[in-house]
Amino acid sequence: LIRFDKVTKRFGALTVLDELDFAVDTGKHVTLIGPSGSGKTTILRLLMTLLKPDGGTITVDGEYLTHEKKGDKLVRASERHSREVRKKIGMVFQQFNLFPNMKVLRNVTEAPVHVLGMSKDEADQRARELIEMVGLTEHLDKYPTQLSGGQQQRVAIARALAMRPQVLLLDEVTSALDPELVAGVLDVLRDIAHTTDITMVVVTHEMSFARDISDSVLMFDHGKIIESGPPDKMFTEPEHQRTRDFLTSVL
Ligand code: ATP
Repeated sequence: LIRFDKVTKRFGALTVLDELDFAVDTGKHVTLIGPSGSGKTTILRLLMTLLKPDGGTITVDGEYLTHEKKGDKLVRASERHSREVRKKIGMVFQQFNLFPNMKVLRNVTEAPVHVLGMSKDEADQRARELIEMVGLTEHLDKYPTQLSGGQQQRVAIARALAMRPQVLLLDEVTSALDPELVAGVLDVLRDIAHTTDITMVVVTHEMSFARDISDSVLMFDHGKIIESGPPDKMFTEPEHQRTRDFLTSVL
């Protein structure tokens, strides 16, 4: 479903991703691990078209995200083209980024109505289902500031799913939360991973969560995948010394 072909991303003199090849199959859950600065967030930001690669191509569901075809030539994608392809992807950030001036329900219905052109009634019904799924039905009528961080993050998850994405990107979604609020958010995500067929790309330091939901775990170092495999193998008998060192530092 997602494919990076020789993707390079630089910030000035720093090469963050170096001709990265990487693919995620439909319905799979992939977790990216690795030291700070190894390029994990950059991958998610490229998928959200918040960044543009300096080289290589990215495809989502068989369509180029970074490029478009003009005749038989491949040219840089227009904003409009990228925006269309990006609709297949939803993302939840470390900071919840809810609309502060909108109540919970409206936070979830806003994009389906204004971006997808969904009718208000349909968006409303779908939003109520999603808000129930994340356990916030009694908070529909509150503003984000009236909720805990964990509750806000669960609204952000419902909001991302309301766009019916094929892919959900999760970028350290519990890092900004007080410790006692982490479990509630991870439980919701476990439930989504186990009961829906959505494809997931996850950056997390929560290793037991990664172990529960991942089909495969990819270890990054300096913008390259140095080792990958199913979570059982990666967490119990990693081959690479750098993977062992990294896991020792986070476990
Ligand atoms: P972390 O776990 O700390 O989030 P990461 O593996 O997700 O790390 P990235 O956020 O992808 O790493 O960053 C990779 C490198 O690129 C880092 O050295 C970072 O400082 C640098 N970087 C990221 N975004 C920018 C930017 N907009 N301008 C300059 N440098 C950047």
